[in-house]
Amino acid sequence: NLEVGIVGLPNVGKSTLFNAITKAGAEAANYPFCTIEPNVGVVDVPDPRLQVLSDMNQARKIVPASIRFVDIAGLVKGAAQGEGLGNKFLSHIRQVDAVAQVVRCFKDENITHVEGGIDPIRDIEIINTELCLADLESVEKRMERLQKLAKSGDKKAREELDLLNRVKEVLGEALPARRVEMTEDELLLVRDLNLLTLKPTLFVANVAEDEVATADVENQYVQKVKEYAAHEKAEVIVVSAKVESEIAELDETDAKDFLAELGLTESGLDKLIKASFKLLGLITFLTAGVQEVHAWTITNGTKAPAAGGKIHSDIERGFIRAEIVSYDDLIAAGSQNAAREKGQVRLEGKEYIMKDGDVTYFRFNV
Ligand code: GDP
Repeated sequence: NLEVGIVGLPNVGKSTLFNAITKAGAEAANYPFCTIEPNVGVVDVPDPRLQVLSDMNQARKIVPASIRFVDIAGLVKGAAQGEGLGNKFLSHIRQVDAVAQVVRCFKDENITHVEGGIDPIRDIEIINTELCLADLESVEKRMERLQKLAKSGDKKAREELDLLNRVKEVLGEALPARRVEMTEDELLLVRDLNLLTLKPTLFVANVAEDEVATADVENQYVQKVKEYAAHEKAEVIVVSAKVESEIAELDETDAKDFLAELGLTESGLDKLIKASFKLLGLITFLTAGVQEVHAWTITNGTKAPAAGGKIHSDIERGFIRAEIVSYDDLIAAGSQNAAREKGQVRLEGKEYIMKDGDVTYFRFNV
């Protein structure tokens, strides 16, 4: 299951956003260290296609794709040295697929900023420094081991050492390992180090509730974050955590009205989910029958048998063919049978690369 870790300095709005995610409503207190254990929230990935398919098939239930958010609170200056409960948090980040870093772009005299005034770039750099220090430690540990092997003439170890030296140099400048140009093979070499600064990263610019519709172009802090993110190969989304927490209290219709009043077409949470999907190169294929309509998450480039494996390992092992119709074709035809008559249900083999919105039926031997 896809997992995104939420990090950020204290008092930037992480808990507020996270509470909106879980709708749990735990207290967001106005002081650092208020949340200690990492919390997990699971949300459905919004996908209007599911209801349409459900209606078409008179399906009994809908199973949307989901995404897990882990609230990794307490990352502060000195975390890599074990100050402020840091190391524990860092080890939690190692397990996630992507990192969403919340940065404060809202002004509010009543809410103290742990580092003084509002300065999202300084905040990002503080967090990055901690992540880099932690990565530096992992890299150095590995290098020590490799050095012994390299001395005894191990060529592979030599190559890896060269690569790690490059990574170390970048980390030493407090820059993320993402900045190191690496080939696919090199990426494989460092993969099991689970470097924090190699994870896909998204900046969540948290803005005041009254500027949520305009901040994307007008808020000067947001512009700075965007400039910064461009160098980092990172994405930026604009949300107001306050607004999200209010939306979380409303039912679907009221939430839509509320968004419209604010001049928005989608919630920050939906933006966050979509951006996370994009960041990780994920797509969705669908299965639709009377029992259920189900959305399945795969990485872009996944072949048909592996996609079937998401449903059951038997499907991958005994894969024969996949019967596939694109969602758009299916809707235009009106039903599976009509699509079949029009020749739009294709039989695809082992090498077929799945596309987003493929409505799929797998044939397999047991
Ligand atoms: P955390 O320490 O990063 O988890 O931050 P919290 O979520 O606890 O937020 C710190 C304070 O900022 C709380 O008093 C929140 O109500 C407030 N806050 C969070 N997001 C916003 C926002 O979008 N606008 C305003 N005005 N206040 C916010």
